[in-house]
Amino acid sequence: MKAEIVSIGTELLLGHAVNTDAAFLARELAQLGIDLEHVATVGDNPGRLKACLLEALSRSDLVISSGGLGPTLDDLTKKTAAEVLGVDLALDEGSLADLKEYFKGRHMGENQLLQAWLPKGSTPLKNTVGTAPGCLAETASGKLLALLPGPPRELEPMFRDQLAPLLARRTGCAIVSHMVRTFNQSEGDAALKLGALCDGANPSVATYIDELNQTYVRVTAKAASRAEAEALADPVVEQVKELLGDVVWGVDADSLEQTVVRLLAERGEEVATAESCTGGLVAKRLTDCAGSSEVFRTGLVTYANEAKTRLLGVPEDLLARVGAVSEEVARTMAEEARKRAGAAYGIGITGIAGPGGGTPQKPVGLVWIALACPEETYVRKLPPFGGRYPGRDALRQRSAGMALDMLRRRLQGRPVVA
Ligand code: ATP
Ligand code: MG
Repeated sequence: MKAEIVSIGTELLLGHAVNTDAAFLARELAQLGIDLEHVATVGDNPGRLKACLLEALSRSDLVISSGGLGPTLDDLTKKTAAEVLGVDLALDEGSLADLKEYFKGRHMGENQLLQAWLPKGSTPLKNTVGTAPGCLAETASGKLLALLPGPPRELEPMFRDQLAPLLARRTGCAIVSHMVRTFNQSEGDAALKLGALCDGANPSVATYIDELNQTYVRVTAKAASRAEAEALADPVVEQVKELLGDVVWGVDADSLEQTVVRLLAERGEEVATAESCTGGLVAKRLTDCAGSSEVFRTGLVTYANEAKTRLLGVPEDLLARVGAVSEEVARTMAEEARKRAGAAYGIGITGIAGPGGGTPQKPVGLVWIALACPEETYVRKLPPFGGRYPGRDALRQRSAGMALDMLRRRLQGRPVVA
């Protein structure tokens, strides 16, 4: 089945809203084994929208639109879609009842009622979050046109819970994708390690790199049923894990920090942090995770030397002798964070994120990261970034990621410093 997305909204063309709906739908369609061939964006203009829908339906079997279903004047999608389908709008009693329920005890404007009118003969898709229902219609020539609301928090559950099952029934094919996730592994190195495995067609194996500079490897298999697709994918996932080794921190896991939180919770252990150049980023990433209150004790941001001494007891003469950005200070920060918080693990980070502040002896990008464990403290440097400064934000994220990955390695029984 060939699919096309039509994203509707002048705000998208002006760059005021980012088209996350299309990205979401693209990922979901791939999961369903539906080939997405075009993504079009069109403003809130009925003439151009009509032309866009007609063109999309002329070349694709399935067209999914987002946006313009709401009660405001610029929401023209349903009227235009009805014209394209050659049908009238008809009041959908179910959607009307849902709207009345939504506005129970409050005033419902006349314009709100318009949302219950759908192209005649279409299947309504309930909006469980907002007001505007979506729908799935079939053209005279058997093509599918689905209309979804623009707000992502409305579109996403509507697609997953209602439209996707309807589409899966029609394709009779299942796709399974697994993501093997790594840290501190370049995409090139991953491809080298995987070798001929990347040439496979089904399952296919592809490497990607995300915004946190984490490489992941996606294994995708296609078969008549989900179970058959899983059976094809599983052995390849195992092969990928084996070839990549201990840089792998999870398969289909949410994030490195969520993995760390889960591993700590499983062992009933806690972590505390003392950060300088990352300004609390490790603490932030840990506390972003559900369940972090069980495993995260405390996080100190000791930026100034004086704070390192007063709050962590880093000796003044040590700071004077080796400087704040040093292996010894990172070690002391981690050990003191651990000890003072009464946690099993302590993380200490000190470095120069730049762009200024570097010297020939201590260049920008020099970051010391320490992990204090009950029996031993591990300290490592962030790998140098090479010729091109990646920016303050990227260096801080990499440093925080490295600290999290050291703890992940320890919790998974891998060598902490590879
Ligand atoms: P509403 O009932 O909120 O009016 P709607 O279906 O009419 O819903 P729009 O009016 O087109 O949707 O968009 C509502 C909001 O949803 C926009 O302001 C924008 O923030 C967001 N939105 C719309 N389209 C997209 C998109 N493709 N990706 C991400 N966000 C979007
Ligand atoms: Mg709207």
